[in-house]
Amino acid sequence: MSMTDRPLPKMAFECQWLRRTIEPSRPDPYVMLCTHIVRDGQDCIGPFLEDMETNCGLWDPNDQARARAKRLAR
Ligand code: SF4
Repeated sequence: MSMTDRPLPKMAFECQWLRRTIEPSRPDPYVMLCTHIVRDGQDCIGPFLEDMETNCGLWDPNDQARARAKRLAR
């Protein structure tokens, strides 16, 4: 198994389906929405913590996560 085969940590904030936006009607207007076809328009399940992975089965890495994995594999 090469270093590039190592699974990426599934951080919710690095999911390619995540969309950060503002909804002024909510008590906390900073919202994290899911754009995956299965959950489209619902809140992301998170969590948004630095050291905790999401257990979301729909998670896919965004460009930032892929770039980090590449750097670590060098
Ligand atoms: S709910 Fe899952 S697929 Fe949707 S943005 Fe959050 S982690 Fe990604």
